[in-house]
Amino acid sequence: MSYAAERRIALEAVEKASFLCRTVQANLVAEASMDKRDKSPVTVADFGAQAVVTHILRGAFPDLPLVGEEDAAALRDPENHALASQVVAHVRDTLPGLGADEVLDLIDYGTFEGGSSGRHWTLDPIDGTKGFLRMDQYAVALALIEDGEVVLGVLGCPNMPMGGDLGGDPDGEPGCLFIAVRGEGAFQRALSGGDEQPVRVTDISRTEAANFCESVEAAHSSQSDSAQVAQRLGITAEPFRIDSQCKYGAVSRGDASIYLRLPTRKDYEEKIWDHAAGAIVVSEAGGKVTDVMGRDLDFSLGRTLRNNSGVIVTNGVLHDPVIAAVREVLGV
Ligand code: AMP
Ligand code: MG
Repeated sequence: MSYAAERRIALEAVEKASFLCRTVQANLVAEASMDKRDKSPVTVADFGAQAVVTHILRGAFPDLPLVGEEDAAALRDPENHALASQVVAHVRDTLPGLGADEVLDLIDYGTFEGGSSGRHWTLDPIDGTKGFLRMDQYAVALALIEDGEVVLGVLGCPNMPMGGDLGGDPDGEPGCLFIAVRGEGAFQRALSGGDEQPVRVTDISRTEAANFCESVEAAHSSQSDSAQVAQRLGITAEPFRIDSQCKYGAVSRGDASIYLRLPTRKDYEEKIWDHAAGAIVVSEAGGKVTDVMGRDLDFSLGRTLRNNSGVIVTNGVLHDPVIAAVREVLGV
């Protein structure tokens, strides 16, 4: 099955949303953020990006449901009127002519519950909100799931340079996109345009020669457990800490050979929008993505990966030894 139309539209949606995020980040002011129940910062760009992506997806595929991270409940609260107005203004800069109510309705479209049959999108409008607020890395992550399997993923990484070493060439132009369709490989392109280039994981087969990436936020992945895993594997390189699904992009193009996401608490369920796009990018670049037990991620269960625990990403060759070390350290 070809996903040419879906790929083109997903790319356009992520590209436009990434530019919206970049504009908001450039004007970032303290008032533009507020707390939501889980206390993670939510920004104007988060809501704006979800509205933009949803509008473009629905224009092309009106019947495809969306599992989105955000909903507009908070924006409808009169207390947040100023914030809602900023969201609407930014969305209108990208998509002129939309009414305020239309923008809120677009954001509310993402309430689908997901599941194992049919097709649906899943979107994290800004993955890595903490990185965004630190003026650091974040990603716009969109994937298409069909009968519980990820078939297409696009990652917009507005601050991630193209290029080779950790985090790319620091002097290079920031902003890249990763794109993958099942069976067609993974590609990278500059956010500003140009040709797509195939990306490929490293071929490092000795764990001692590998490096790994992990969350900047210790609350999202246990950095003490990852240090023990690294020690068992003989990894001497410092961990490469980077927010968001940019980590999957980094593994897909060989900046790192391993991405460790080790649970910080037993009851946390990873969200499908935090992994779907990144997982297919790495798989199509030749890598492997499982949970800490070595089980495939199960995207068929609704909004969360409730049958999985943590996430382990490697270049494939290193997967078995990494899983073995993780299981020893975690005692699972
Ligand atoms: P990262 O930028 O890789 O640290 O991941 C950001 C994502 O971590 C956010 O989108 C949240 O959905 C997710 N998150 C929040 N709390 C946790 C947790 N306790 N464990 C794992 N991920 C979490
Ligand atoms: Mg996220």
